[in-house]
Amino acid sequence: MQELLKKSAMEQSKALKNKEVSAVELTSAALDRIKTVDEKLGAFNSLTEETALDTAKKVDEKIAKGEELPLLAGVPLALKDNMNLIGSRTTASSKILENFVSPYNATVTQKLLDNLVPIVGKANLDEFAMGSSNENSAFKKVHNPWDLNKVPGGSSGGSAASVAACEATLALGSDTGGSIRLPASFCGIVGMKPTYGKVSRYGLIAFASSLDQIGPFARTVEDAAALLEVISGYDSHDSTSLNLPVENYRLTLNNDLKGKKIGVVKELISEGLAPDVEKAVKNAVETYKKLGAEVIEVSLPNLKHSIGIYYILATAECSSNLARFDGVKYGYRTAEAKNLLEMYCKTRAEGFGSEVKRRIMLGTYALSSGYYDAYYKKAQQMRRVVTNDFINAFSQVDALISPTCPNTAFELGAKTEDPLAMYLTDIATISANLAGIPAISVPAGFDSDGMPIGLQIMTPQLCEAKLFNFAYKFEQEHDYYQKLADI
Ligand code: GLN
Repeated sequence: MQELLKKSAMEQSKALKNKEVSAVELTSAALDRIKTVDEKLGAFNSLTEETALDTAKKVDEKIAKGEELPLLAGVPLALKDNMNLIGSRTTASSKILENFVSPYNATVTQKLLDNLVPIVGKANLDEFAMGSSNENSAFKKVHNPWDLNKVPGGSSGGSAASVAACEATLALGSDTGGSIRLPASFCGIVGMKPTYGKVSRYGLIAFASSLDQIGPFARTVEDAAALLEVISGYDSHDSTSLNLPVENYRLTLNNDLKGKKIGVVKELISEGLAPDVEKAVKNAVETYKKLGAEVIEVSLPNLKHSIGIYYILATAECSSNLARFDGVKYGYRTAEAKNLLEMYCKTRAEGFGSEVKRRIMLGTYALSSGYYDAYYKKAQQMRRVVTNDFINAFSQVDALISPTCPNTAFELGAKTEDPLAMYLTDIATISANLAGIPAISVPAGFDSDGMPIGLQIMTPQLCEAKLFNFAYKFEQEHDYYQKLADI
């Protein structure tokens, strides 16, 4: 049974349909594995055993009746703990929501339940999804399954680690500046951020609403594509949701790449790259050439501004989104306060961690009168400039490639004292959020310490089919994705 947990979602689906295993057995095996290894990993904030087994039972009933199964039915999945699942605690890894129980399902959660995907637990994250290493969780750190002394990446570190360690076969994460792709690359799995508006955020705890997107984690590109099919689609509950038909990305995974044009992002291969990461990108270029694609260098001249733009816009938006946590409507309230104002202040002082407070202060400053034009407005204008760089680049090529991160996973604690160094980890990922385009990280080799390296691929808005096609063709040329962390 533990062997089956290591297989892809598609293989697990097949085993269920062929009655080689029951859904209850598969889900129980995943829960057992979590109970054995998660003490070392810290990937889960809580388990949702009852929901998972209930769903698995429904799958088995359908199989017994000979009914057709929905896509991914019976395949164990971990839900990032900033998405609502009725009756489960949704904490965003924050003390302020430690005892908050979801009163309704997020749209993605409902879609998973409709497809009979067993949700095994709520995955750890950086508090309110703010971070790149998952060390900002108010509860516990997540450890990288490839080396327990290293970070898994953030902010969806628990989601990524759980899939890499075969505690779950699939996971959902949210990506505001790289929070799916970065941990996917650090943990040696596939992680994908869809086009802004593809997946409903109803029931996702908002961080920066003009950037947030929910997306899939999996160990193969095909599984990630299938999971996006399940969770995407129009939702009237999210005003940014795109009213477009749900696509079948799996049909075009294997399309020929002959004659396609790929651009290597010049600014992301020139400076500060770890030598092994540089080598992996060079190898990826060779792989694509072998597949018949033409590869050229393409410039995104304003990419260097993306971190600055992001840390104004994301903090401004979070200062507004997090205003609702005031001790009145949700979660934690301070034990002692003499009046209402003191209650607000103490609740927030006691409930938020230091990174969240830093961001609220930065964002409030950027939005305050007198500074609004100089910071917020300028950042909005520069966001357009970065987006135009992408439009220009995609007039020359079908897809862009780069490392997902200039380096592989670092030691726990290595950057916690230096927020700027931590922020710089996202140099390759943030611009896709600013431009609203889809982007994926796929396993692309290992460094000399055996730590995974991720290759990022980006395509124009709404070109997810193309994105999965480029990712799949690359994946199938190598056996990186078949290597699993030994934990
Ligand atoms: N690391 C980035 C940040 O700290 C991105 C986080 C995210 O995508 N949620 O804001």
